[in-house]
Amino acid sequence: MPSALITGITGQDGQYLAELLHSMDYKVYGMVRGQRNPRADIIQRELPFVELVSGDLQDLSSLIAALEYSQPDEVYNLGAISFVALSFKQAELTADVTGLGVLRMLEAIRLVGGQNNPIRFYQASSSEMFGKVRETPQNELTPFYPRSPYGTAKVFGHHTTVNYRESYDLYACSGILFNHESPRRGIEFVTRKVTNAVARIKLGLQSELVLGDLSPRRDWGYAGDYVKAMWAMLQQDEPRDYVVATGQTHQVSEFVRLAFAAVGIEDWERYIRQDERFMRPSEVDLLIGDCSKAGDELGWRPEVAFDELVKMMVENDMAIESANLDR
Ligand code: NDP
Ligand code: GDP
Repeated sequence: MPSALITGITGQDGQYLAELLHSMDYKVYGMVRGQRNPRADIIQRELPFVELVSGDLQDLSSLIAALEYSQPDEVYNLGAISFVALSFKQAELTADVTGLGVLRMLEAIRLVGGQNNPIRFYQASSSEMFGKVRETPQNELTPFYPRSPYGTAKVFGHHTTVNYRESYDLYACSGILFNHESPRRGIEFVTRKVTNAVARIKLGLQSELVLGDLSPRRDWGYAGDYVKAMWAMLQQDEPRDYVVATGQTHQVSEFVRLAFAAVGIEDWERYIRQDERFMRPSEVDLLIGDCSKAGDELGWRPEVAFDELVKMMVENDMAIESANLDR
């Protein structure tokens, strides 16, 4: 039975990846931090097949202990301070967890795996590394130009992964994933913030939706599709890095319009108020990925289209908010 250790198990991708690996008969270990992480209870309830192990990306010895206990064939490093807006406010923490955390995990793998290291490593890199984009669409060779402490920390993690692969002959891959969303997306991100607000407005629980800049464009896919690419990267003969994206881009305003349309509201603009609070010191204006390498070498393709994704998320939030009303 193959086994995998997932950091960031309590996050969006950790949950989809755990389900995918479980469906392929993996033994799944999920790393959780803190002495009583409230999200660990949700994992135990919804994904009872996951065995939780304690550890924190800020603490090397806890990573060594987690690896020694779980003895994984594969490590998926999904743990991070992942919210760009927070990274501006807590830049040092972001550098430590999102950046140095990668180095610590790779060191732990080197120490525990020893000679002819059998542990395969996946790093959750990000399209935010492209930031102020140098070319369009972005591919694996596009130079990085990060625009936030999150982006700079991810660039560090990305280069560190490549460097450990080349220096120590580790099977280490970096997936450069463009934005991906789902009903499990955290409410701090714009997509889920919008779909939750649309549901509440439709049900008369909220009267307006306060947002920042509606003009940036993102290449948004479905998280359930993207975790399949993570797994596929670790099954190749040679470790390589891949862009994972849909190849389409949409403005934030387009996501908002479609989300309102999904509940039959066409005059969406009258519900929107813009507030400086949600603007960023520097913005990433346009992201669109070229995932042809992942298509050719991994056989990976996105399956859920943008309008289906918006509808899926709105329907989920309508169900949650309606159930809350009935309580
Ligand atoms: P989430 O924000 O949903 O999850 C982040 C996870 O990191 C949580 O489980 C959190 O645990 C964990 N974490 C935070 N701090 C630490 C720490 N000190 N030690 C260990 N774990 C920690 O992110 P996603 O699931 O959306 O993303 C997964 C990864 O992919 C992240 O690295 C993200 O940056 C990256 N990525 C995501 C994209 C996206 O569009 N979703 C795009 C490109 C990259 P806790 O519950 O304890 O807070
Ligand atoms: P990001 O691409 O990783 O930063 O993902 P987000 O979902 O946080 O943001 C996507 C885009 O939406 C960014 O360009 C944000 O500036 C923009 N945006 C506009 N209003 C908001 C808002 O209220 N919240 C968030 N999170 N993003 C917003």
